[in-house]
Parts: sequence; C-alpha cells; structure tokens
Amino acid sequence: MEPTTVFILGSLMMLANGGVLGLMHQDLPESLRPAAVSWRIATLLHACGCLLFAAQQFIPIALVLPLANGLVMFGFTGYWYSLRQFYAQPSSLWLMLPACIGTAGVLWFATVMPDTGIRIMIVSAVWLLILPGTVKVLLSEQRHDQAISRKVMAAIFSFVCAFVLFRAGYFVWTEVHADFRVIDQQHWLNLVSPMVIAILPVIGTTTFLLMCSERIRRQWEKAAATDYLTGLANRRTLTEQGLLWFEQAKKTQRPLAVAVIDIDHFKTVNDRYGHDTGDLALQYVAAQLVAHCRSTELPARQGGEEFVVLLQNVSAEEMRAAAERLRQGIAEKAFIAADLVLPLTVSIGVALQDPADSCFSHLMQRADKALYQAKAAGRNQVIAG
Ligand code: GH3
Ligand code: MG
Ligand code: MG
Repeated sequence: MEPTTVFILGSLMMLANGGVLGLMHQDLPESLRPAAVSWRIATLLHACGCLLFAAQQFIPIALVLPLANGLVMFGFTGYWYSLRQFYAQPSSLWLMLPACIGTAGVLWFATVMPDTGIRIMIVSAVWLLILPGTVKVLLSEQRHDQAISRKVMAAIFSFVCAFVLFRAGYFVWTEVHADFRVIDQQHWLNLVSPMVIAILPVIGTTTFLLMCSERIRRQWEKAAATDYLTGLANRRTLTEQGLLWFEQAKKTQRPLAVAVIDIDHFKTVNDRYGHDTGDLALQYVAAQLVAHCRSTELPARQGGEEFVVLLQNVSAEEMRAAAERLRQGIAEKAFIAADLVLPLTVSIGVALQDPADSCFSHLMQRADKALYQAKAAGRNQVIAG
C-alpha cells in the first residue's frame, strides 16, 4: 500500500471512530464528557493533519508542511490534555507550548531556510516532549486505577514514542535528503511512519472508549457497594462479606466477630440541630470508625444511625478490646460542626462466632441482642452476647 492511501484510510477511520465517540456523548457520565470532547477535537486535528499529508502533491509545500505537522502536533497535545482531564489532573495552556514552537519551527525551516533534516528534528523533539508527558499521566495513575485499558493506552503511546526516537535516530544516521517527503514511496520508513501516525490514533480512540466504559463499570460497582452518605460499605456488601468470612471462619477455626454499633440518643441531634447536622454527625462517626479499624476489620453502615464492624480472626478478649477501642474512639473526640461542639457516644453489642451459630444472621442476631442490653444498661458501653 502506498503512504498516501494509508494516510487517507487512517484519517477516515479516525474520523469514523471520533464520530462513534461523538454519538456516545449523551451516554457518558457528566464527569467524562470534557475529556471525551477534547479527545474528539484531538482526533479531528490529527485526521485533518493526515489528510493534508496525503494531499501534499497538490498544495504548496511551504503551506502544507507547517499546517499538516502543526495539526498532528496539536492533535497529540489534545490527547495529552484529554487524558489529564480524564484523571482530573490540572492542565494549563503551557501544554500547547511545544506544538506552538514546533509549528513555528517547521514554518521557518520550510519557507525561510528550507532544511528537511532540521525540520524532522524539530517535529521529533516536539513529539518527544508530548508523548512521554502523556505516558507519564497514564503511569502516574497506577495506584488508583488498575484498568487494563489504561495500560494498553500507555503501551500505545510508549510505542509511538519509541518509534519517533528510532525514526529521528535513523534520519540523523543516514543524513536525510533535502527532497525527502513522507509520502515518498521509495523509502521503507515512509510506509511505516503513516501507519504509526494514522493507524495508532484509531486504536487509541478505541482504547479511550474502553477506558470510559471501564470507569463507568467501576463507578457503578462502587455505588452498588458503598453507602452514599458515609462512603462506608453498605448493607449489601456487609452481608456478602459477612457470609463469606463466616464460612471461611468455620473452615479455618478462626472465629469471626461482629460489633453492632448504635449512636446514643441520635434522634435528639436531628431534633435539636436539624437533619443536615445529623447527616454530618453520621459522617463523623463513620470517619471515626474507619480511623480506629484495623486492616482485618470491615466497618459498614447497616442503616440509619446503626453501624456494623466485622472482625476477622479474633478471640473473645480481642473482640471486646476492639469494640472498646471503637467506643472510646468516638467518645473521646467530640463532633464539631461550625460553632457546634457535640460529644457523641455509641453503644456496642458484640458476638463471637461459635459452633452453635448455623448462619451469619444468627451471629448478627446475638450481637443485636447484646446491643439492646447495652442500651438498657445505660448506653455508651460494650456488651458481649
Ligand atoms: P438510642 O440511644 O436508643 O439509640 O436512641 P436514638 O435516638 O439514637 O434512636 P432512635 O431509633 O429513636 O432514632 C434514630 C434516629 O436516627 C431517627 C432517625 O431520624 C435518625 N436517622 C436515621 N437515618 C438517618 C439519616 O440518614 N440521617 C439523619 N440525619 N438521621 C437519620
Ligand atoms: Mg440510636
Ligand atoms: Mg438505632
């Protein structure tokens, strides 16, 4: 296939892919839309640049070179910008600087002092600023985002980066001719270059769509598993995890314990200070639980002002000590909202799995009963059931 055909086909595929992304716009969550718009603009710029490369026999070279190279450089900048938006990393107009300098450089060395070698070096240098920047954005998310699509995207940009480096090195090594053109069929590199320039953005856009769908899937999973107000595991997750750990504990003989935690006189918080302050108080208690839980303990919101902590692999004394740690953690530090300082306490009922417990809910019922006893005994205390 000739380079011109590759450029034209690549551009059409890019436009089609960008079009699909456009059609999906309404289906994307609000948070992903700005990144998707930037990606589409970048794809459009890139596709126009590739079409200009394909049409360079018909347009004066002094015009087509800065324009086509500029569009591709701004296209890659657009991908960089879009990925920063995708990961909510701050961006500034400085990202445009390499492409601006590059376009001006190509213009100068295409018109004022025509020099193909310097032009190729300028374009390569700009790409070698933008592409590693993009790879860095993707790799810096390693800790928060395990999506395969992110890794594929990083691999795509790394490959383009390695290719640009190789291409620049090759041209330096072989001393490029003044009449060199990217659509020159005799040069083998001219078949590979358009493939990289024109086809990889197509794969990139598909990968971007996968990144979006992966993000949406994770958001849904998280929403289904967590409590909206406090961010703790919700009742569904609590039950699933409890059932799992209960069965595991039976096999390993390392008992599971549950602590049912209820805020004392919470109704009066709502009645005196309003429901919104009540919500803040619930968030505060949840945060205290998280702060005082260990890695083998799972805090969850059971509903209302009632929380549950699952404690893996504990003895009766360890269970009591853990519940006491949680109770004190909340009692010791008052809840503060604006100028309101409100000491809060909780009552806790705990139960340790024993062979008589046929199922997880049985264990929960025993802890619940213990909680009622703790309430009846005066609140702000731990009772084991
Ligand atoms: P006790 O010490 O016996 O537990 O008394 P209490 O007042 O804490 O218990 P009660 O069951 O009478 O009241 C619980 C209150 O929790 C009533 C309800 O309005 C409030 N509540 C439940 N869910 C929420 C919520 O999501 N936000 C707010 N602000 N309040 C809630
Ligand atoms: Mg209560
Ligand atoms: Mg209650």
